[in-house]
Amino acid sequence: MSEQPATPKPVLRVTGVQKWFDDTAVLQGIDIEVAEHEVVALIGASGSGKSTLLKTINLLERVDDGQIFLQGDDITDPRVNADRVRARIGVVFQHYNLFPHLSVLHNITLASRNVFGIGKAEAESRARELLRRIGLEEKAGEYPDRLSGGQQQRVAIARAIATEPELLLLDEITSALDPQLVGEVLDLVGELKQAGSTMVMATHEMSFARRVADRVIFLSQCRIVEAGPPEQIFDDPQQAETQAFLSRVQ
Ligand code: ADP
Ligand code: MG
Repeated sequence: MSEQPATPKPVLRVTGVQKWFDDTAVLQGIDIEVAEHEVVALIGASGSGKSTLLKTINLLERVDDGQIFLQGDDITDPRVNADRVRARIGVVFQHYNLFPHLSVLHNITLASRNVFGIGKAEAESRARELLRRIGLEEKAGEYPDRLSGGQQQRVAIARAIATEPELLLLDEITSALDPQLVGEVLDLVGELKQAGSTMVMATHEMSFARRVADRVIFLSQCRIVEAGPPEQIFDDPQQAETQAFLSRVQ
């Protein structure tokens, strides 16, 4: 008889992850579990390892120790096909990283067509539906440089979710935007949460993390100092380091 898990399998499980760049430790014993539909915010000073952690999950950086499981699959196993893992994870970076020589529509359909082998008509019809959802239907034929930063970032999000990834990683996706464009991008992330996306996002938007995250993880000096629901981390942080960080940024 097979054993029944006591709790649903987490979408993401990071256990004992260590990462060094040369002799410098960047991640030391990181443990994180993210359940389906959960939104986790990573906060911490610049250089605290947020981006590196997201990159290890997306296999852009290799862990030096520990393991990362995606829906129970050990993706840090050296035999794993990294492209197949990446096809299951949507990523949006600080800089929109849209392909400048491709139209908005083509940016969104590229992975569906090339990685998942979805036909042109179906991929385009899904992409147009996504563009409708993000309010940019009329931009389908435009090239990225004709869009505002906020619009480009919304297209980057649409591209990331076009393949219906199991997990979405967002790395400071509003930090390169003019302040007046931040809201439209954060509103879209809020809508993704409502729609049930599972997300891990590094952010310096504390009010947004408070509003949207189910759990907040504070990283400092390569490790998790404190984690908990936003009300606890923001209103009643237990660790002096968390208190000091929040008093600087809030
Ligand atoms: P954050 O995203 O929280 O600002 P990062 O993950 O970018 O932090 O960086 C964590 C630490 O790792 C920093 O000290 C940074 O300088 C270092 N680092 C990041 N990427 C590299 C790299 N490719 N080579 C060497 N050091 C790096
Ligand atoms: Mg970073």
